[in-house]
Amino acid sequence: MPARVYLVGAGPGAPDLLTLRGLAALQMADVIIVDTLVPADYLQALPLTLASKSVVRLGRTGLRWSQERINREVIDHALAGRTVARLKGGDPGVFGRLAEELSALRGAGVEVEAIPGPSVATAAATAAGLPLTVRGSGRSFAAATARATGGGVVPTLPQADTLAIYMGLEAAPAIRERLLAQAWPPATPVRVVERATMAYESLYHCTIDDLHLCVARNGVRSPALLVVGAAASLPAHQRASVIIYTGNQPAAYRALGHLLHWPILRPRTMEWQTSAPYVGEVSGELPSRLPPADALIFDAPEEVRPFVDVYGEGALPQKVWCVRLETLAMVSRLGIKTELLSAARNASGRPAPGSVVLA
Ligand code: SAH
Repeated sequence: MPARVYLVGAGPGAPDLLTLRGLAALQMADVIIVDTLVPADYLQALPLTLASKSVVRLGRTGLRWSQERINREVIDHALAGRTVARLKGGDPGVFGRLAEELSALRGAGVEVEAIPGPSVATAAATAAGLPLTVRGSGRSFAAATARATGGGVVPTLPQADTLAIYMGLEAAPAIRERLLAQAWPPATPVRVVERATMAYESLYHCTIDDLHLCVARNGVRSPALLVVGAAASLPAHQRASVIIYTGNQPAAYRALGHLLHWPILRPRTMEWQTSAPYVGEVSGELPSRLPPADALIFDAPEEVRPFVDVYGEGALPQKVWCVRLETLAMVSRLGIKTELLSAARNASGRPAPGSVVLA
């Protein structure tokens, strides 16, 4: 009796943006095949017993399989009676090859269920406080890929108040030309969202006219989404402050603004499980430069030195807050102007989400 295959949308990257239905499928699966876009520590952060499952990672740091090879693997497992979950970045139905996989699996007589996930366009925009629609001023948005089938850049982009452009990084100069040729004003605001909702997310503001320069100057890397038009045009007073947070409990501080989680040290376990002490090593993935931000929050004192060693004091945003007194002492000792961010603590000693107040 062949078992079922689940094509699961993982969401944009933060494990806590997986749906409950997606989680249930991962819990039932004997085999989990994980796509490139899903961060390496994603599964470890979920309530899953991985020891009893076989996990296959595809992509840059994993196996490089063709679509045919993936289909064959999935079909073989299912026909052998193993439940398979194919975990894909975002939503499997948005630039996720859902059509090909459904037809290959159904064609082989395998039962298959597709499970939605937040797509990067909606997730990246909403998490950054950029509404994709606004009553009266933003009535439509279109998700478009920059890549033409068979290679190259798409000849035209759709018309909408906001465009969310996937896979547009390398194509940025050509996308700029297409947009200008399609009569978008050169001063139209654009947001470039790199690694939305993942650790080391960055956000850059530019216009259509300097889009290519913004991507090149800031060394923006994949995965990134371009948000063009109405959603990128919020007036300054309605924009969330961009805050870099260097600790391992980002959930406690998200209500303060658009929090870019920038873990400096490797935690002993996943961040939302416990206020775990650090392993003591600087995170191996730490990017070499910081994105622009309005403020920075240091959590534990151990984060401060490595941060300053990597980025220098010159890279600090205008405001520097510390969560703890020991951290404040450490930052002040380095001659950096800082203030205490007093967080209301709940009984467990953790900051209660939503109860954070600025000192
Ligand atoms: N199925 C996905 C899209 C996969 S296509 C979805 O529904 O969102 C791959 C492209 O998605 C990348 O090239 C990039 O443009 C975008 N992308 C995926 N994850 C992203 C992230 N966390 N931040 C920004 N862009 C991302």
